[in-house]
Amino acid sequence: MTVTLMSQQPDNEALARVVQRVAALPPLTAKYAARSECHTIEAFSELPVLTKDELNAAMPFVLREIHSTGAYLYGSGGTMSAPKLSLIPSSMYARDIAAHWRPIENSDLVANLYKPGRLWSSHNFYNSFAAECGATVLTVGALEDHELPVWLPFMRQHGVTALAGTPSQIAHILEFCVRTGTAPPVFADKLLWVGEPYSHHTDALVREYLPGAQRHGLYGSTETWVIGFNGPKCPADTFHVLPYQYVEIVNGDVLVTNLHRETISPVLRYRLGDRGRFVSCPCGRSDQAVQLLGRAHEQFKFLNILVSGEEIASTVKELPEVEGVQVATFSRGNPDERMQLRVLLRDGARADTALRIRAYVLTRVYRLGWAITSNEDAFEVIAVDRLETNPRTAKTPTVVHHAEAREAPRRSSDDAPVPRGAAARAN
Ligand SMILES: [Zn+2]
Repeated sequence: MTVTLMSQQPDNEALARVVQRVAALPPLTAKYAARSECHTIEAFSELPVLTKDELNAAMPFVLREIHSTGAYLYGSGGTMSAPKLSLIPSSMYARDIAAHWRPIENSDLVANLYKPGRLWSSHNFYNSFAAECGATVLTVGALEDHELPVWLPFMRQHGVTALAGTPSQIAHILEFCVRTGTAPPVFADKLLWVGEPYSHHTDALVREYLPGAQRHGLYGSTETWVIGFNGPKCPADTFHVLPYQYVEIVNGDVLVTNLHRETISPVLRYRLGDRGRFVSCPCGRSDQAVQLLGRAHEQFKFLNILVSGEEIASTVKELPEVEGVQVATFSRGNPDERMQLRVLLRDGARADTALRIRAYVLTRVYRLGWAITSNEDAFEVIAVDRLETNPRTAKTPTVVHHAEAREAPRRSSDDAPVPRGAAARAN
């Protein structure tokens, strides 16, 4: 049975407008034209969902017709394959977002840690958003370990009050401070984040080393743009929905339709790949908020069986000593393929923890346990100090696939993980 829940009663006229626009794009006509007269919420709810591949196929046609509107062309994905493109109005909806979410004001100085360039949108967005709020921006970009001894004092000296970056970047700065005995950036008491879940690891570091800092999050994707927002009183995984973003939750999957008049990319019942549910947020706002429950399980083949990196990761996260986890594969599909489970452990974890985690995973994800019985070396668990981040976006993916059979040699300032304990290959 299909169970559909919605964020709010949408404007039927706006829904019909989006359907007609999508149906007019040649690659999507066959799918939507017969239903383009869609004037009720019931009829809308029966439309088929739009997939990432379909949206990507329509982009050349969208690009051709957008001559009179200023826009940015951004991409998502692209680490292992061609990026999927999206057109975003030059306004970046900054005014619409600031009308509902305004964590900074004109007295703030924001250090923008998002990487500029390479089709990645967040750096430009936080510049636009700060301008909309009347704040000043320090356009720093992502910082490596060797740059932090110079940049952290620079930020303090110039009165930075807010950091904008991925939770991985915020954690990276605090990890550096802990490791080197450097003073944490306590002068920045507002943390503006987007792009990935606010992890337990980042949360633990912020609570300990930036105890006065308040987190202000956004939820969205390059395709849909910002869908929702939260503040320090909301749980980090719970977001209030912007009024022009129509969110449906169908059998647990988050679907989004962007009803804003300026929207260029056709975003209609777009499946983001996130699981979620509607909740009342404990912050006290009366609207329905979306609580995210992780990514939909995408499967891949490993040792001739289908496995889900999300399932493996969520199994490991059940263990109280685990603060973070990442599934890495090497040379997948080849005779020398292997999987490496990287874990961030809480302080006080015992020396044999990696071995115990290995046994735990292999008994619960039984297909994996069965598959490696004839090839024990194909699966290892290692404790690390850092998880691998995407070099373009500084996000930390749950699953990373490497074409090569082995990890590249590491430099001290690399994003690559640093083993902290012995690898566990035996049961
Ligand atoms: Zn809230």
